[in-house]
Amino acid sequence: MLDTLLNFASNGLANAGWLTMVLYVLVTTQLTIFAVTLYLHRSQAHRGVDFHPVVSHFLRFWNWLGTGMITREWVAVHRKHHAHCETEQDPHSPQIIGIRKVFFEGSELYRTAAANEADLEKYGRGTPDDWMERHLYTPHPMLGIALLAVIDLALFGVIGGAIWAVQMVWIPFWAAGVVNGLAHWWGYRNFETADKATNLTPWALWCGGEELHNNHHAFPSSAKFALRRFEVDIGWVVIRGLEKVRLAKVLRVAPALDERPNVSLPDMVTLKALLTHRFEAMTEYYRMVIKPTVREQLSAEGTRRLGAMPRRRLRRALANGGRWLDKNGKTRLAAAVENRPRLKQISEYRARLAALMEQRRPESALAALQQWCHDAEASGNRKLAEFAARLKQYSVARA
Ligand SMILES: [Zn+2]
Ligand SMILES: [Zn+2]
Repeated sequence: MLDTLLNFASNGLANAGWLTMVLYVLVTTQLTIFAVTLYLHRSQAHRGVDFHPVVSHFLRFWNWLGTGMITREWVAVHRKHHAHCETEQDPHSPQIIGIRKVFFEGSELYRTAAANEADLEKYGRGTPDDWMERHLYTPHPMLGIALLAVIDLALFGVIGGAIWAVQMVWIPFWAAGVVNGLAHWWGYRNFETADKATNLTPWALWCGGEELHNNHHAFPSSAKFALRRFEVDIGWVVIRGLEKVRLAKVLRVAPALDERPNVSLPDMVTLKALLTHRFEAMTEYYRMVIKPTVREQLSAEGTRRLGAMPRRRLRRALANGGRWLDKNGKTRLAAAVENRPRLKQISEYRARLAALMEQRRPESALAALQQWCHDAEASGNRKLAEFAARLKQYSVARA
């Protein structure tokens, strides 16, 4: 009897070797990542893709089992993140509360945000409200992870406890720490979005595609996160696979930027394309206007920095109008720009372009865009003129 108990404690029912256990951890944690990115994020929070009820319920069940997170809470916290990105209202912005706190205490931040009933009401609409949700998943979120502990222990004996611990830290580490923290802090940017979202690496299979966070903030409702040739979004690969067997329906993907030749005056097509691709436009403005102008200015002055602003910092600050600088930084930027007409000019044009995209009435926005292009072409600044010519070609590609 004692022997049987000891044998069970050390081997569990599965009597599995190390390789099997590692494989089990990898498969279950990857499923958890997919449940979060495909179901909670792309489908529920942003409505970029619909899944067959069997698939979506399986993923919801898996979230309950593997994370104890409630769909409505996750969706609400995440939608609030997009609505108030990098402000005091953002539940987890490293720019506001510091990277250390978001990276190491991401789960606590999530739990605090998820406890705000008014936000759940405001941002959590449209999530499942069926019998299972009301009787099991929402009222008993801890039951799922407890059940997973029992399964792990039964399958692998005491070592199942360690396996369970790994499963439990997977989402707090990769999603709350790495994506919510690092992907608003460090990495490369394809799009000059109004926040600090970054792509961590062109691919990271264990992050499910979430590593392409700058792309996601540029086109939040797109079910596909990879937008450049060298990027791979494993979550999208799964969606396409499910679509082939009719278990998924893609509702939205980021539209491609198209070009129309010989447009002398921007029209509504140009404006629509500019508004759709506003972050791409700002990126092109950065590459075509800001970067070369700063380079020329510095080499004309024979220096690598203006006052306390080294070249890179100056370029980044001009790219976003100095939004992320503290009070001192803003003063330094203003001082650097003040007596340098070219820098002043390109920063004013950037501000005008950003402002016209915020105009509520399309007619006013179009008139402002036409004026902007006209002024840029007549400005005597070749780079501005070339950018205006490029902008006039903007058009949205047909799906
Ligand atoms: Zn984000
Ligand atoms: Zn999102």
